[in-house]
Amino acid sequence: MQRSQEHLLFRESFKSFLSQEIIPFYDQWEKEGIIPKDAWKKMGMHGYLCPWVEKEYGGAELGLEYSFIITEEMAYAGVYGLMAGLHSDIVAPYIYSFGNKEQKKKWLPGCVSGDIILAVAMTEPDAGSDLSSIRTTAVKDGDNYIINGEKVFISNAILSNLIVVACKTETDESSPYKNISLICVEDGSPGFSRGRNLEKTGWHSQDTGELIFRDCKVPVSNLLGEEGKGFYYMMEKLQQERLISSIMSQAAAEAAFQMTIDYYKKSKGLNQPEIQIDATGMVEMATDIEIGRTFLNSLIHDHIMGKDIIKKVSMAKWWTSDMANRIISQCMEIYRDYGYLEDYQVGRLFRDVRAHPIYAGTNEIMKRIIGKKLGI
Ligand SMILES: Cc1cc2nc3c(=O)[nH]c(=O)nc-3n(C[C@H](O)[C@H](O)[C@H](O)COP(=O)(O)OP(=O)(O)OC[C@H]3O[C@@H](n4cnc5c(N)ncnc54)[C@H](O)[C@@H]3O)c2cc1C
Repeated sequence: MQRSQEHLLFRESFKSFLSQEIIPFYDQWEKEGIIPKDAWKKMGMHGYLCPWVEKEYGGAELGLEYSFIITEEMAYAGVYGLMAGLHSDIVAPYIYSFGNKEQKKKWLPGCVSGDIILAVAMTEPDAGSDLSSIRTTAVKDGDNYIINGEKVFISNAILSNLIVVACKTETDESSPYKNISLICVEDGSPGFSRGRNLEKTGWHSQDTGELIFRDCKVPVSNLLGEEGKGFYYMMEKLQQERLISSIMSQAAAEAAFQMTIDYYKKSKGLNQPEIQIDATGMVEMATDIEIGRTFLNSLIHDHIMGKDIIKKVSMAKWWTSDMANRIISQCMEIYRDYGYLEDYQVGRLFRDVRAHPIYAGTNEIMKRIIGKKLGI
């Protein structure tokens, strides 16, 4: 991660914001299963949403690395429910890259201020890894699209007021990849409703849920980019999504390890003989974390330089999420039975990182991509 004086100052001010405005309330939000919209507004007010967006659209026009600092610090703090990374660095880029000037003017300032909370809806009850098999349709009717279908496991499903929805527009029947389009559905569109806020193993305050479209009417001007290009747009933007996921995994492992080593040293100081510490195991964990960090920093650098990161980010996504799950499980061993208590953050991290190998493309899919790139 970048370490200029400006980056360090930004990191410190964001940490201070987190410790005052987010962390003191986070346990309560976890219990309530949702983040208040007000917290999103505070993030926006302080410039912590979409900081890379150009001034013309209300942003601060900072480099991407500032966004990555935000994602990293939120993961260090265990704040997974308020998915600023998803909003700023996964969904907003669809609008920025594929939206026309009017769409950008209409939506990006709200994304920066926190008045608009974003979601991206690809997954369906019968379509996860294979996005070409989605069934949600968008049929043109005059100046509108009529959308029918259901989406599931959508992050920010309950709070979002602008959703980028992957739909079949049947532009080209010759290939399942050529008939997907991305259409923005705004809160309040006729025929759009929300289903359950899903109760998950972890990420309790994240409103991951269901979206329902029944003859949902949206203007054709809400189409992002060109009809039939949605699959290719998603493949392009999924690379940054996988990078964000890797940053979260790496930071989760680092945070868990740091709290565990502090606990270990304290316990050792108290000379509790029942705690059989495997110091070699901790040394191995530290080594894994260092390897992950070095690889991730070089990947971030490549991405910012505009290099093709498909193979490397697929490697980082599966390896860092596996590593975080392994390390956090080992950290819990060091806490012994206390690690299983809600009093210790390591237990919550254990639940939270379990999602990392699943979303943004499962780890099995990452390995298939790497295999293809290797020609095997
Ligand atoms: C917490 C959370 C948040 C999410 N947020 C979003 C969101 O905001 N928007 C959104 O659209 N989706 C979201 N998802 C959905 C997520 O992207 C999907 O769960 C993921 O794509 C996998 O799809 P699936 O669960 O249907 O599994 P499937 O695709 O059905 O796969 C099942 C299993 O088979 C394996 N598998 C599938 N195909 C292959 C293959 N070709 N080769 C080898 N193995 C294979 C998979 O790795 C997996 O282990 C979220 C999921 C979670 C858990």
